[in-house]
Amino acid sequence: DSGLDRPRIRQLPEEVVRMIAAGEVIESPASVVKELVENSIDAAASSIRVDVKGGGLAHISVVDDGVGIAADELPVAIQRHATSKLPEGRLDAITTLGFRGEALPSIAAVSELTITSSAKGENVGRSITVRDGKVVADHAAPASGGTVVVARHLFRNVPARLAMVDKPQVEVGHISQVLRRLYLSSPHIALRLYSEGKMLLSTSGQGDRLAALIELYGGELEEHILDLGIRELRYGRYRLILSDSAVTRPSRHHINIVVNNRWAQVKALLASMEQAYRGILPKGRHPILLLQLDLDPSRLDVNVHPAKQEVKLLDEREVIESVCEQLRSALGKNPSASKSLLY
Ligand code: ADP
Ligand code: MG
Repeated sequence: DSGLDRPRIRQLPEEVVRMIAAGEVIESPASVVKELVENSIDAAASSIRVDVKGGGLAHISVVDDGVGIAADELPVAIQRHATSKLPEGRLDAITTLGFRGEALPSIAAVSELTITSSAKGENVGRSITVRDGKVVADHAAPASGGTVVVARHLFRNVPARLAMVDKPQVEVGHISQVLRRLYLSSPHIALRLYSEGKMLLSTSGQGDRLAALIELYGGELEEHILDLGIRELRYGRYRLILSDSAVTRPSRHHINIVVNNRWAQVKALLASMEQAYRGILPKGRHPILLLQLDLDPSRLDVNVHPAKQEVKLLDEREVIESVCEQLRSALGKNPSASKSLLY
């Protein structure tokens, strides 16, 4: 007698698998907004409107003027691992924000999701509603020149997630931050955010990152921001834009790294940049900074984090050395720099 009442290994039911996968990608109303707006950006939209109610739990809608989805492809779009983006399955050639084909099915697993779309040039569209992973409505819709995605009753079927969601006001703050970051990575997009019908954010979509930064942080930044210009790397280039000591923030959340048009966390790079600021700014103060990195897509791995937030740079060392050297001379910390540009 082994005395062991060992549970047997068995396959999880499909609904449970779906829920677990969804939980990886969709952890809050802000992650729904992020995924949907990324889809709109990938669809070459130039104007995107986001509406939320109840902090996003009751209602999130994203309306875009992108290329749309063909009627016969709409049912495929909501299936797991269905994507139009991964070029021949090559993870080393990703130029889009999405690539896993997981967002729509994940959102559908934790909300009531309606997608209404028509492909550019078609004169009729289609609308599909999914609830608890099942299609509950499917009909023709007028061609609208883009896509409308509505997610309602988010996490109604996932009490554990629901319990983690903050007050509506706080969640709207997270959503707004997601959109601000998306604007820094895609400054050609006119983005609007409404909560309970009230406009909270509206961007011009003029296309330049320096201008986008000033737009987001207000006119006060205009006289206190420096664009260090473009520098070449072995496999790409970068541009560093930073505020001078007159404009600082109490958190490091305003240090933005955009890699190949994706707002990304690159931990070692961020830590090294912060290190370069040591002794320059008062303790607890941080700059407003934007580092735009444009690299050969094969020199980075975006497939390291469920929400695609983290990016791994293959040439991290080279990038860090170059960026920090430039940063230190701009800050006047480099002995070879004749004079600080900033302080
Ligand atoms: P991924 O973005 O990784 O491809 P998603 O589940 O987010 O996966 O979307 C699945 C597919 O649905 C996309 O590849 C795209 O073809 C289509 N799609 C989703 N949203 C839009 C949109 N707003 N406009 C056009 N096509 C869309
Ligand atoms: Mg996507």
